[in-house]
Amino acid sequence: MDIPKTLEDRKKDIQFLMQYAVPEAQVKSAEALLEKYDADIIALNLLHSFYINLPEGMDDSVNGLRLLTCRQGVFLLCVFTGNGMQYLYMVNKEAAHIIGTLAEGIIDRELLDFFGYVGNKEFLVLTEKPEILKEYEPYTPDSNLCPSCQVAAGEFHTLGCPVEICPWCSGQLTYCNCRFTKLDIDAMDKLEQIEKLQELLQATGRIAFKKEHSPGYLVDNISDDGEE
Ligand SMILES: [Zn+2]
Ligand SMILES: [Zn+2]
Repeated sequence: MDIPKTLEDRKKDIQFLMQYAVPEAQVKSAEALLEKYDADIIALNLLHSFYINLPEGMDDSVNGLRLLTCRQGVFLLCVFTGNGMQYLYMVNKEAAHIIGTLAEGIIDRELLDFFGYVGNKEFLVLTEKPEILKEYEPYTPDSNLCPSCQVAAGEFHTLGCPVEICPWCSGQLTYCNCRFTKLDIDAMDKLEQIEKLQELLQATGRIAFKKEHSPGYLVDNISDDGEE
């Protein structure tokens, strides 16, 4: 597989920045993470943004990436750092922007709407235990696996997978409003609600994963507010 030169350039820039940003005890894990994601432009954009503008202005490193959701080629990712912090970033193929700490959640109403969250309260409930958030899987163009929950083509996603398509509105199931309208609720924070939703989904017919559903690479003209 040919890796475009831009990916390699991005990686070199990150390696350069890392020399100044990463505390010595975190070098190994930071380098391992970069290697893992070095063919994934979304992850590279995020790492570049992180290292060029360290969130607290303090030496730190990225040692984990979790996927919260994605929409129209924009990924909402959570960064786990060597200093034990968690930050939210929104990332597309062009650039990455920090939103803030995971603990603060998403204050901006437009952002909440864009990613399909009813409110910050709902968001904070969903992300209460950051360690159970799904790992962001590095993109591989040849993969027949769901980039988020890793089921094979033709299989049903793990419930809650941000790639699953809603059978009612054809939007993405984790961010459309169907789960609320179908269950006639305002927020989804109880186990019974999830079970009920699962039953309704099964009755309606869940949509199995297809390679074409992979997010992020379908929409080519994402507006870029530019960061640098
Ligand atoms: Zn999936
Ligand atoms: Zn829907």
